[in-house]
Amino acid sequence: MRTVEDGDFIIPVFENVEDDEAPVEEEPMDEEQLEEEDVDEVEVGGNESEAEFEYSTHDPNVKNVDWCTMNPIATKVAVIGAGISGAVCASNLAKNGISVTIFESARGPGGRMSRRREIADDDRELYFDHGAPYFTSTNTDVEEMIRRWEARGLVAEWKQNFGSFDFITKKFVNFEKEGLKRKYVGIPGMNSICRALCHEPGIESKFGVMVGRLEWLENEESWTLADVNGQDLGKFNGVVASDKSTFSQRFTKVTGKPPPLDLKMIPGLADMIEEVPVRPCFALMLAFENPLSSIPLKGFSIDNSQLLSWATCDSSKPGRSTSSERWVLRSTEEYAQGIIGRAGLQKPSNAALSEIADELFQEFQKTGLDISLPFFKKAHRWGSAFPAISTTKDEKCIWDKRKKLAICGDFCVSPDVEGAIASGLAAASMFSQSSSCL
Ligand SMILES: Cc1cc2nc3c(=O)[nH]c(=O)nc-3n(C[C@H](O)[C@H](O)[C@H](O)COP(=O)(O)OP(=O)(O)OC[C@H]3O[C@@H](n4cnc5c(N)ncnc54)[C@H](O)[C@@H]3O)c2cc1C
Repeated sequence: MRTVEDGDFIIPVFENVEDDEAPVEEEPMDEEQLEEEDVDEVEVGGNESEAEFEYSTHDPNVKNVDWCTMNPIATKVAVIGAGISGAVCASNLAKNGISVTIFESARGPGGRMSRRREIADDDRELYFDHGAPYFTSTNTDVEEMIRRWEARGLVAEWKQNFGSFDFITKKFVNFEKEGLKRKYVGIPGMNSICRALCHEPGIESKFGVMVGRLEWLENEESWTLADVNGQDLGKFNGVVASDKSTFSQRFTKVTGKPPPLDLKMIPGLADMIEEVPVRPCFALMLAFENPLSSIPLKGFSIDNSQLLSWATCDSSKPGRSTSSERWVLRSTEEYAQGIIGRAGLQKPSNAALSEIADELFQEFQKTGLDISLPFFKKAHRWGSAFPAISTTKDEKCIWDKRKKLAICGDFCVSPDVEGAIASGLAAASMFSQSSSCL
């Protein structure tokens, strides 16, 4: 089995990685990625000239525009993270005439809505949504966004049968419970929305850049950013930090470096922000030559298994290749905690991941369902798959008006895509409300 690993390809930092061309897997920054980012290989472009940023994105046809009237010079906001919260926030800022630069440590957009490219032994290309398999919504603002993405062909409803599987009775149950809400997926992969938003007018996206330092310049009333090697990334009027690792001690545990944002600099906020505990999991990617026809559902939660909690059939989603049948299984949090407790937060070795893949697959076979041997099998660790708490209430993001700093992400609202979108929207609206002061 051959896998495209980091280091096989070097992507120039400021290149936007397109789906069709992308020769590498696209992953957000997780513990393992914090470690393995080979920033030395990455050429950092340094400071862009002012002129490059002084283009106007003002489009009189764009609705809901809240133009910055007191200071018409292009305003610049840095968004850290190209997951769904950062991408939604960046898109809304740009629609309001703000010049946005997204910095993303991974090689492409999506964060925990990434899709992963793998190469099988026979050189077959396989794609997996190895993070969020789908999303739902009950929030009207989020639903409005989904309608717009549907109209652009970025999202479609995943209409299949869903339910639960009871590991003790070995029966499918609860068809209603899992099947009630509409389930949406990105087309052709879960990362499609983030990819499209990152390329909208007014947004410059820089992948493979891990922000290592955020400093507030009191005299200039602006932020200066540097990457993890201390290289200058430029000055900005405002900053959006869309990942908890920007202020979390986990950043230090994994990288040995202080988190990019020193909360002591922002005394008012420091009291509001607490360390966000996280829930890990493993994803197991499987590809089969033939459909698993004994399984009547295309997505089901798994009750009463110590190891497995969810299974989704990736190739049954709209817009996916059906040349093989691909499933993604999710481990239980307890199983992942056990492994991390023993092995620590370091990047798991290929041998360790292979053992985990075997163990999870054996559990899948123990369902008693007729499961043939896959021609591709690989595990991925998500060290911070889900935040265990929500840090805000109605505000949906954390905001320092004077310093123009917004902190957003699913951890502010709820541990899902819907919560992340709502938080990104809230962060953008904070800038709009005070854009005349930027
Ligand atoms: C296995 C799994 C299954 C899931 N299942 C579901 C589901 O069924 N339904 C659902 O709704 N949700 C699900 N989720 C949760 C959902 O994926 C997340 O809630 C959502 O994607 C979070 O988006 P976000 O923008 O808040 O964070 P993220 O997607 O994590 O984005 C943050 C981004 O910031 C980047 N970053 C961090 N620090 C830096 C830095 N210093 N410099 C540059 N970049 C940085 C990261 O690389 C990352 O790309 C699942 C998640 C996982 C992992």
